[in-house]
Amino acid sequence: MVSKLNLLIMGPAGSGKGTQSAKITEDYNVVHLSTGDMFRAAISNQTPVGVQAQSFIDQGLLVPDEITVALVEERLVQSDVKERGFLLDGFPRTINQAEALSTILEKIEMPLNLIIDLKVDEKLLVDRISGRRMCKKCGTIYHITNNPPKVEGICDVDGETLYQRSDDNEEGLKVRLAEYNASTAPIMGYYKDSTDILDVDASLAPDQVFASISSKIESLLND
Ligand SMILES: [Zn+2]
Repeated sequence: MVSKLNLLIMGPAGSGKGTQSAKITEDYNVVHLSTGDMFRAAISNQTPVGVQAQSFIDQGLLVPDEITVALVEERLVQSDVKERGFLLDGFPRTINQAEALSTILEKIEMPLNLIIDLKVDEKLLVDRISGRRMCKKCGTIYHITNNPPKVEGICDVDGETLYQRSDDNEEGLKVRLAEYNASTAPIMGYYKDSTDILDVDASLAPDQVFASISSKIESLLND
């Protein structure tokens, strides 16, 4: 039985990772740690890590592993994480990062309880991604058939014109998916023998996906 949840969620673009993360965070009160959000916050607050990250981004370079790791560590040691546990999202992306994460978690004595691995087939992802439309102003995500706005091309929340990410097309998706598969397979291999992994069929409806995740989490909390 675990008293606090330390979770990791993995899944390619279009797997519903954002939706599931929101549901998990809401139902289980864990702190959602998304590297994207953490970078945005560190940069806007001009923390030491944020300043370093910004200089790489300004030069059009990838942020090196050690900076990403420092960012995650800076956040993991804060008291809300200690009290509520965490859901890591978007990290680790490489074996190096996975090893660094193990070192941090050992140091703060917060072992990972579960890895949620969202799996979707490529054809379905292409459909989900190519129909995706976003609002720049409020961040709401729509889908032209599965979750259309009330007025075509317009955000329900604020009336802003919706846009499509330039790489939200079949070619862009195949590139991203190939990158994802190339880096994720080794990461799952790294955890295979040490950590509980839940494979989820993320091509199902969001509620069904969440049902399998929460039944696993309940069993961790109650067994
Ligand atoms: Zn909007």
